Amino acid sequence: MARQNGPKCKLCRREGEKLFLKGARCQGAKCPMEGRNKPPGMHGWRRGRPSSYAVRLREKQKCKRYYGVLERQFRRYFSDAAKARGNTGENLLSRLERRLDSVLTVCGFAVSRPQARQLLTHGHIQVNGRTGDRPGYLIEEGDVIRPEPKDAVLDMVRSNREEMGHPETGWLEVNDADLTIRCVRMPVREDVTLPIDEGLVVEFCSR
Ligand code: SF4
Repeated sequence: MARQNGPKCKLCRREGEKLFLKGARCQGAKCPMEGRNKPPGMHGWRRGRPSSYAVRLREKQKCKRYYGVLERQFRRYFSDAAKARGNTGENLLSRLERRLDSVLTVCGFAVSRPQARQLLTHGHIQVNGRTGDRPGYLIEEGDVIRPEPKDAVLDMVRSNREEMGHPETGWLEVNDADLTIRCVRMPVREDVTLPIDEGLVVEFCSR
């Protein structure tokens, strides 16, 4: 049977790498990128060696698409990361990882970032007791995130978490009994699962 390639899968094909944009489907054999070992497009092998500009551009695009942010927003994250103390690449990844939609996906409360954004914009998620409807809100240490107390929302979040295999990460503490996420510290480079060379992203954005 032909594999169905949705718009998300097309982004992966364009980057030539799995970007994990469709939740559980990305882990299974249904992923159209499974077994692909050549660059995307029918002329993938004929393109020759990519220029150093192309390599850096691809790395930046990969990062942007993985977190689902637009160019202007991405540039703002970069400029904030460059002004902050420490390594710019790590600061950038930390900011992207702290986005509320990313937090919900990393903890399996949503199966993908688009679904996390939908939960947020529909007002189904609370941050410190108040409705958090901004997918780009950057969570801080001590923040507590929970779904709104409605049976349908709680059931959905519970089943998403099960489907995603109850994921854990060091900087976020998930309590399955009352379905809460607590930020126990800021994320560091090791907490970021995206296989990315942030140095190349910084080089591209600093041109
Ligand atoms: Fe589609 Fe996910 Fe595979 Fe990407 S990783 S091609 S989004 S199934």
